[in-house]
Amino acid sequence: MSKPDERADRPLGVETRLVTSGRDTIAQKGFVNPPVVHGSTVLYPSAEDLLAHRGEYTYGRTGTPTTRALQDALIALEGPQCAGVGIAPSGVSAISTTLLAVLKSGDHILVCDNAYRPTRNFCNDMLKRYGVETTYFDPMIGKGIAEFFQPSTRAVIVEAPGSQSFEMPDIPAIAAIAHERGALVIDDNTWATALYHRSLDQGVDISIQAATKYIGGHSDIMFGTIAANEKAWPQLAQAIRLLGVCAGPDDVFLALRGLRTLSVRLAHHQRSALEMAQWLAQRPEILRVLHPGLETDPGHAIWKRDFTGSSGLFGVVLKPAPERAVHALLNTLTLFGMGYSWGGFESLVIPFDCSGYRTATKWAPGGPTLRFHIGLESVDDLKADLATGFAAFNAAC
Ligand SMILES: *Cc1c(COP(=O)(O)O)cnc(C)c1O
Repeated sequence: MSKPDERADRPLGVETRLVTSGRDTIAQKGFVNPPVVHGSTVLYPSAEDLLAHRGEYTYGRTGTPTTRALQDALIALEGPQCAGVGIAPSGVSAISTTLLAVLKSGDHILVCDNAYRPTRNFCNDMLKRYGVETTYFDPMIGKGIAEFFQPSTRAVIVEAPGSQSFEMPDIPAIAAIAHERGALVIDDNTWATALYHRSLDQGVDISIQAATKYIGGHSDIMFGTIAANEKAWPQLAQAIRLLGVCAGPDDVFLALRGLRTLSVRLAHHQRSALEMAQWLAQRPEILRVLHPGLETDPGHAIWKRDFTGSSGLFGVVLKPAPERAVHALLNTLTLFGMGYSWGGFESLVIPFDCSGYRTATKWAPGGPTLRFHIGLESVDDLKADLATGFAAFNAAC
């Protein structure tokens, strides 16, 4: 079987590349998948090779046939701007590694106010201790971000949409200004993945994914990926080396296995989540649905311009109600599990409140807020489960 890339007379579709990349049938002795290489020591055939660190693989921490296969597949997913992908033992590790790679004492960083909370914690705690100053900005600021730059601003962090509040920053507008000012743009692309948002093609220099979510897809691994363009990759590769960031082989294998079916899973999450979001928007208990894929959402125009799809995660604002009613709703559900994280095959729900940690913007949605992850169950079953929950909610109001 010849390699598909060599035969193609036109670029392969991203779904095809997700299936074909990172597979070397001969090296895999005919098997479809690479072996799970558990390894630290790599033996060299001669003293000369050993002393020169000469060989395809040199040490377990710096790469194995399993990690190489995953990285090749991730590069194919991230697109032509991607110069390299680092892998990390969690999404937070991907974020902290990236920030340590690009910042130094005395620098300033701009962070979107809807950023993942542990990202903020890293900035407010460790970066602060290392002499890096953080300024938060309104996710909807667009070109207005220009006034927040200082001579020492080295990077801007965006998240589109924020994984709790779902505002949609204008990444190309922010990136254009950041680049004029010599700053790098870092995108937490976990919600859409590179399948539905090609952030590196839109001016982002470093695109991070908590692969714990959709790439893994089965709620069974912790994993992170850091994709970077030509400009940012050398710094990142060096930081990954210096910090000794690597991931366990079984998780690397599961990330690769998840990647192979990402396109079908995400299409299903997208379809079901949109249907559930539309259904919820009609419910009398709901004030507003926070989902950029809905035409009524303030981020819809940007989403439509910059994204090719949406995923399974969105929020709702309930009509004002006592806490006991919200708890009655949550405690009645049987198909929606209550737990942190998302991106697996199962539906989830959590109450959330951003008001305690936002600093650049005020979070006052007008009622209690819930975040849903729509899994791969039948939407009719999910609607029936929620209808039972709403009955309990209404009874407790
Ligand atoms: C979950 C998540 C992370 C962190 O990933 P972990 O693997 O849990 O460390 C980062 N960003 C976003 C948007 C997330 O949802």
